[in-house]
Amino acid sequence: MSEMEHADVLDIGDGVEHDVAPPPVVAVVGRPNVGKSTLVNRILGRREAVVEDVPGVTRDRVAYDAAWGGRRFTVLDTGGWEPKAEGLAAAVADQARLAVDAADVVLFVVDATVGATDTDEAVVGVLRRADKPVVLAANKVDDARAEADAAALWSLGLGEPLVVSALHGRGSGDLLDAVLNALPEEAPPERFGVAGGPRRIALLGRPNVGKSSLLNQLAGENRVVVDSVAGTTRDPVDELVELGGRTWKFVDTAGIRRRARESQGADFYATLRTQSALDRSEVAVVLIDASEPLAEQDLRIITMVIESGRALVLAFNKWDLVDEERRHFLDREIDRQLHHARWAPRVNISARTGRHVEKLVPAIETALEGWGERVPTARLNSFMTDLVAAKPHPVRGGKQPRVMFATQAGVQPPRFVLFTTGFLEAGYRRFVERRLREDFGFAGTPIEISMKIRE
Ligand code: GDP
Ligand code: GDP
Repeated sequence: MSEMEHADVLDIGDGVEHDVAPPPVVAVVGRPNVGKSTLVNRILGRREAVVEDVPGVTRDRVAYDAAWGGRRFTVLDTGGWEPKAEGLAAAVADQARLAVDAADVVLFVVDATVGATDTDEAVVGVLRRADKPVVLAANKVDDARAEADAAALWSLGLGEPLVVSALHGRGSGDLLDAVLNALPEEAPPERFGVAGGPRRIALLGRPNVGKSSLLNQLAGENRVVVDSVAGTTRDPVDELVELGGRTWKFVDTAGIRRRARESQGADFYATLRTQSALDRSEVAVVLIDASEPLAEQDLRIITMVIESGRALVLAFNKWDLVDEERRHFLDREIDRQLHHARWAPRVNISARTGRHVEKLVPAIETALEGWGERVPTARLNSFMTDLVAAKPHPVRGGKQPRVMFATQAGVQPPRFVLFTTGFLEAGYRRFVERRLREDFGFAGTPIEISMKIRE
């Protein structure tokens, strides 16, 4: 298999992928002993040994990065999920369902020398309902004589059985070509900012924290264009500002500048405006008046940013008014009230004097980078294996939910899906999030963790 390449990820040396679309998932399913793991080894070009056969160790690690014909994908090996012998068909079907859920394409492996069994039929039932593309592999066809066995598998109703010998490599190139054909079209990068447009910033904060002062300070000399949308004066107006050698778009600056003329106390409209600015932005800079105690409204705005899934930078303004004592209290307020955003970069600035305002740009860049970060599946799963080994989920009601594998389903913000054997309690998910941040960074971005539970 000389043309087999190992997955090449865009690696800038920190082991974390940046700015790459998620690879599609190919799930390899079938009953035990049909040769799934052997085939996966084959697909991986044996570069990733599935044969680190320490009982209970490798068996958790089931997702691998692979590539064929220049296309990257993730291989999900269900070979390690050993179902109990009794109720085999149902157990195999259950596993297939879980894998198929996660898959873009299913590679269904049948042992041609045995032919279709009841268990194979049970898997076919799952595949029919799932409505995902299926490639049927007739495995263990080691020589031409066995090809007649393979033809019998047309009876499964899944189209042409592709003849392979995972053991010897026979037919595996054609099989991978078929898998490649079945993969979804390579999605054009739908990412923000990649198209070359300026990154979009929402400058948020309750009244009088210094938003318009900061905008004036930043835009002052550096304003490039006022980007007004044609139409009525009520349309949002954005400002393009050059900072740190690149152009940024501050969204809805009209709202910031106009606010002085608007009636006070219109909380509802303030919230609406914050939400609409968030919708149009990628990163929010939330301004806080450091000279005063944190207010309910500050926390509400921060929560809105987190819930909107935008990157977040906290800017403590009016630092010129902060003395030793105030600083001490502020630290305590941050500890107590902002623990849910402790991952957000913080800068202490003065919009009035211009102090440290230049630190905003690196903080924004850090946050946007964390927001777009992707962990390769193989790395994510070895991380999960270590994590689960070091601290398993507590036993609840005699059961202990297990994480079988994990994928990062998306970026901006990073979204993770954990495939589990039971419900992971909130404390454990927070622990997973904490460890993800320790290992991979994700500064300045909320992280979403969801579960798919196998019943
Ligand atoms: P899994 O349980 O589906 O993951 O199956 P394995 O990959 O562990 O393979 C089960 C057994 O079948 C092993 O002894 C393999 O060596 C054997 N096997 C796998 N593929 C082939 C093949 O193409 N030809 C033959 N003759 N044996 C195979
Ligand atoms: P906005 O309502 O958030 O747009 O806040 P403004 O920019 O209108 O500022 C409200 C008040 O705070 C004004 O009187 C500003 O001069 C003052 N202010 C803004 N930034 C600073 C700062 O860094 N230090 C001090 N001492 N005052 C500031």
